[in-house]
Amino acid sequence: MKFPKALSAGKCSEKCSLAGSSAAASIETAPPDRGCSGVPPGEAPTEQGKRVCEVPISTITGAPLPTRKLEVALRRLRASMQDCTRCDALVRCRSRVVPGDGSVPADVVFVGIAPGRLGGDRTGIPFSGDRSGQLLRRMIERSGLKRVFITNLVRCNPRDAAGRNRDPTADEIAQCRGHLRAEFSIARPRIVACLGVMAWKELAGRAAPFTPMGGRPAEIDGLVLFPMYHPAFVNRGAYPIRSYARDFARLSRLSAGIR
Ligand code: SF4
Repeated sequence: MKFPKALSAGKCSEKCSLAGSSAAASIETAPPDRGCSGVPPGEAPTEQGKRVCEVPISTITGAPLPTRKLEVALRRLRASMQDCTRCDALVRCRSRVVPGDGSVPADVVFVGIAPGRLGGDRTGIPFSGDRSGQLLRRMIERSGLKRVFITNLVRCNPRDAAGRNRDPTADEIAQCRGHLRAEFSIARPRIVACLGVMAWKELAGRAAPFTPMGGRPAEIDGLVLFPMYHPAFVNRGAYPIRSYARDFARLSRLSAGIR
């Protein structure tokens, strides 16, 4: 299994500010470019405009490891993230670092945007303790998916000047890419469900159309990327719960077919 694009720490020198919009308001719109324009940090364009992975693929595709070894590796990784101070603004507003959590190896990895102020930032577990987390976990349970891993593009809660959730900046996403890459290398999924357009664009590329409603998954370098709406988008009534449940059933069938 390969990564569809580089997940290495970015080199953009711009520091993020606390000004911004709420995450819920822009979950289904493309992330604004906040100064890291052109080729996103950590990516290398090829001559065909495709992107190549800077991560040594052997770290991801090596021989299968016993579950116990993966669990130990995940525990160590989670501990190593706790002192991360790469993003100045997020260090000031987060309550804690919220690493990815779930089964390793995983059949499906869910990637959201960032821990929520009332969710992961409070509980320490991504997608827990708030309405988005409740909906996501209910859908996973109903769909019969068992071995899942849940994480975000960034591991610290971004807030605006008024203390509300905001979207992470391109720089913050780039800074946390190494953590996402490390989680992927331990979870070793065949399918990554991208929750919202921001996660989709980060993994499938900015040019890839985001079409969760009956849309087809993209297969890039052996990794199946599955587009889905973010649960917050569904919770605010922009997409029917029944359709969302159908999307999860489709994801579950896809996972069963790939196993
Ligand atoms: S968002 Fe990621 S890279 Fe930035 S401080 Fe938090 S853990 Fe570190």
